[in-house]
Amino acid sequence: MTQSAIVAECLDCGHRAEYSPTLASCPQCAGQWLEARYNYEQIGAALPQLVQNRPFNLWRYRELLPVGVFNPGLSMGEGGTPLIRASSLGMMLGCRNLFIKDERQGPTNSFKDRQAAVSVAALKEAGINEVVLSSTGNVAIAYSAYAARAGIKLWAFLTSLVPAEKMREVAIYGTQVVKVTSTYDQVKKVAAEFASQRGYYLERGARSIPSVEGMKTIAFEICEQLNGLLPPQPPAPAEGSAPAPATWIAPDWYFQSVSGGLGPLGVQKGFAELHQMRLIDRIPGIVSIQAEGCSPMVKAWKLDRDQAEPVVSPRTLIATLATGDPGRTYTLLYQRMKANPRTGALHGGAFESVTDEETFRTMHILAKLEGISVEPAAAVAFAGLIKLVRAGMIAPDDVIVVNCTGHTMPIELTVLGEGWKRDVELPAAAANLDLPLEAVPESEQEGLLAALSRVTDDRFSRVLIVDDTEEARRLIRRILQSQGNYIIQEAHNGQSALALARQEPPDLILLDLMMPEMDGFSVLDALKDDPTTATVPVIVVTAKELTVDEKQRLSGRIHTLMQKGEFLSGDLLEEVQSLVR
Ligand SMILES: *Cc1c(COP(=O)(O)O)cnc(C)c1O
Ligand SMILES: [Zn+2]
Repeated sequence: MTQSAIVAECLDCGHRAEYSPTLASCPQCAGQWLEARYNYEQIGAALPQLVQNRPFNLWRYRELLPVGVFNPGLSMGEGGTPLIRASSLGMMLGCRNLFIKDERQGPTNSFKDRQAAVSVAALKEAGINEVVLSSTGNVAIAYSAYAARAGIKLWAFLTSLVPAEKMREVAIYGTQVVKVTSTYDQVKKVAAEFASQRGYYLERGARSIPSVEGMKTIAFEICEQLNGLLPPQPPAPAEGSAPAPATWIAPDWYFQSVSGGLGPLGVQKGFAELHQMRLIDRIPGIVSIQAEGCSPMVKAWKLDRDQAEPVVSPRTLIATLATGDPGRTYTLLYQRMKANPRTGALHGGAFESVTDEETFRTMHILAKLEGISVEPAAAVAFAGLIKLVRAGMIAPDDVIVVNCTGHTMPIELTVLGEGWKRDVELPAAAANLDLPLEAVPESEQEGLLAALSRVTDDRFSRVLIVDDTEEARRLIRRILQSQGNYIIQEAHNGQSALALARQEPPDLILLDLMMPEMDGFSVLDALKDDPTTATVPVIVVTAKELTVDEKQRLSGRIHTLMQKGEFLSGDLLEEVQSLVR
């Protein structure tokens, strides 16, 4: 299929001009906000076929990207990140269809790779060789890598809040780092001034067409990937003359942590384009999560305003998210989210904020339950998810995709807290690594064993998990394992739970209520009737909504009642630790 001309449409006057990367404003009204438009009719009809034989990276959607000719020499396989089912976190939250779009797996480990790959390709094609940008870190890293491949000289203006590790990462690619001791909003102005003085190309975020277009590919991939991960959807009800069946599957919700809002703006456009091409049947709710100390969009949204009041001095340790002035990006998001319900979705989305503490706690949960270690900025989205699930915004069957935007930075002490490692002091001879253990004198071998035994307490508490679903047992096991040392036993039904408990009474029993044959109530009765098990404390962990009657049956006989989907891993641990040491 040949590329038809791409149109740049002015968001102010609607004027349509032929797109080129050097077109910075509307030829008609000089407005700076232009958006790419394609021949959706033609491309939409061909797209599912076209992508079939292409590698799974963002260039499989090249007909919908502002680059004339795909340049394989610049590509590092950007895009095409996995969509991972988060079973344990989902179970903890009571969400059956929770997915993580793992953008850590891009070439420079953040979703900024998409923006950089598409932008640098477009700039290279237009013969641009000097580029200026401002960044809170990851944009500069991603652009630096692609600029290196393209032979483009890059000037990166960074706020002094950017961690030193990230600054050095930018520098190793040969980018000129300019560190500005000021807020990010000020840095943006300095960079713009520098670019205009020198006549260099300025990366302008949401006002740069290739940047928005790069981000939208996340939406394309999600809908293609969900098609393979969820059961096929029932055909949409016929409407009008020729209903086209939706080929791909849209989630109900897309979550992302947000700084300037380029990501959600681009992703929203991606979903809207798929909807316009009738490849999906609705546009998901877009949920943008900000750090509380820098949350201008959240404040405006909650007041139902279409303009965000800038935050002049951001107060968050999460430098990546410290954009105080989102400008028109917020207004566009606001308008599109408000309009969304008319396009078939039940909800347009939301803005929410979380504290730095909630974010750090969530980093631990995500790493311990799902094996995914992220930088604080990425964890903000997950902390927001937890908050909104608990607020009741999300139904148990909703399909949720969280953009896991960035990699682990060298973990800062503020995140990890105290007591994360155990020290072992070896006796002199045993510490000599050249000696085989047998050659260490016996007295000292004992010293070594003694040192190792001090790594943990002598006696581990014995915890029995009783639950008929394997995922639930795994979640609870994981929560316990990640923060303490326990001997964990599992029973998948009431009978084997009683057998295990009678054989050797555990220190604690975690009991599910809804189990086939013998339910949790009967297990509890049997435990209390038997003198060997009558005093073992019981925590009930259940997904069941209890009636007054049922609560009465438990009252005074169990230690705590925890509702699945409502407790956090930390809550459960606290309960467990209050009962056993
Ligand atoms: C840039 C970035 C964000 C914020 O994205 P925007 O779409 O620019 O608001 C969130 N997380 C990480 C890791 C980022 O690099
Ligand atoms: Zn115009």
